[in-house]
Amino acid sequence: MSMDKTPLIGMTLAELQDVAVSEGMPRFVGKQLAEWIYDKRVNDFTDMVNISKKNQALLSDKYTVGIYAPSESVRSQDGTVKYLFGVAKGRKVESVYIPDKERATLCVSSQAGCKMNCYFCATGKLGWKGNLTAAEIINQILSVLSLADRGRDGIMPLTNIVFMGMGEPLDNYSAVKRVIDILTAPWGLAWSPKRITVSTVGKLPELKDLLEQTQVHVAISVHTADARERAAMMPAQKAFPLQSVMQTLGGYDFSHQRRLSLEYIMWRGVNDDMAHANQLIKLIGNLDCRVNLIRYHAIDGVDLEPCSEERMIMFRNVLNQHGITATIRASRGEDIMAACGMLANTKVKK
Ligand code: SF4
Repeated sequence: MSMDKTPLIGMTLAELQDVAVSEGMPRFVGKQLAEWIYDKRVNDFTDMVNISKKNQALLSDKYTVGIYAPSESVRSQDGTVKYLFGVAKGRKVESVYIPDKERATLCVSSQAGCKMNCYFCATGKLGWKGNLTAAEIINQILSVLSLADRGRDGIMPLTNIVFMGMGEPLDNYSAVKRVIDILTAPWGLAWSPKRITVSTVGKLPELKDLLEQTQVHVAISVHTADARERAAMMPAQKAFPLQSVMQTLGGYDFSHQRRLSLEYIMWRGVNDDMAHANQLIKLIGNLDCRVNLIRYHAIDGVDLEPCSEERMIMFRNVLNQHGITATIRASRGEDIMAACGMLANTKVKK
């Protein structure tokens, strides 16, 4: 990462065009830059062969493309790879590459640490260290795509992005929204929004804006339909009650291409009985959504235990019997501390 030059990754087409004009170049150079950076992932101005040598030199005086490699990686026995990226002020964040048959998903971080302080989450225990810039967020994606382009680490080209890494994406909404715009714009990566999922505790009003301004899939961290229990597990419940979140979601159409998922981590003796299943069914009502039942991965200092497989199956079956699509999510990368709720810059399981 060059500290004295401005990175171009994270800029929109209009901003790249402004960069070109401010350097005395024709506006169309901005479009060429967008193609080289986002479509071809070229990290060196001298490789941008349709930009004149004079303009390449002018650009490299003040700017850098800004794609930088992860500082470390660790591979799970199940093929999951956890990448560590340096960000501002010497902080580190993690991204998790998850291969699954023909799919390759990257779980991306949006903040260093997190303010939401969910009781069960290792990232929450770190506290909030800072928001990532759009450049730092999109670098995780471009960098891993570049590794795939070069056949490194045996990874496949990414098919999906999930904002489920460190941080609450809607607590750094302007940067996350900018990255979504770049991922989906024809001048950017031209991805369908259906390849992107944003996972949130339900931070309003940013959730409403995300639903209105984008077409990405949305995942809500529910974990219990009981308001008091949820407030004990997730302090965000006090500011953004689940009932208000569900009411907001009820105003949007999830019956077609767009998917709404409710995330439900299952803890033994806490939220894994039939009373909780019935509360969840009541909460969902007629809302078009699917439920992901997630295994809990124990972390230090938290007195919660995963519930049994048998319980998870029973819980899923009750939801299914009420016409709700519910699946038990496969656990990935637990041995490298890369599974759901475990991201805290720790390399391997102790
Ligand atoms: S679960 Fe998500 S929102 Fe909650 S503390 Fe962890 S990273 Fe933050």
